[in-house]
Amino acid sequence: MSKTIFQKIADQEISAHLVYEDDQVVAFRDLHPQAPVHVLIVPRRPIPRLAEAAAGDQAVLGHLLLKAAEVARKLGLGNGYRLVINNGPDGGETVPHLHCHLLGGRPMTWPPG
Ligand code: 5GP
Repeated sequence: MSKTIFQKIADQEISAHLVYEDDQVVAFRDLHPQAPVHVLIVPRRPIPRLAEAAAGDQAVLGHLLLKAAEVARKLGLGNGYRLVINNGPDGGETVPHLHCHLLGGRPMTWPPG
């Protein structure tokens, strides 16, 4: 199976502005930011989307959320932020490699588009 663009970023085959990495996840700036801070947090293991995550992915998914909060703190988002996971066509998913958007640096509106 061919690598996703996010796997290539995680493997440093494609450059990205990394803000955090460890053995389980990588966090990097979105190429087309939708807010002053827009970071993607991605598991190194290529789970296509949340709907296809399994019980064995529980630890990495928990780790990913904790690291999203840590990155938000590190980037100064003490006034709040939004985490988004787009799943499938109606969810607006465009890259089939599970990722969490961290958006901040401006007030978010609700409902989302
Ligand atoms: P999705 O729509 O799948 O939830 O989000 C995919 C995100 O990946 C989009 O916000 C898009 O801007 C971002 N993206 C797509 N390709 C690249 C890339 O090559 N590098 C980076 N840093 N972000 C990308």
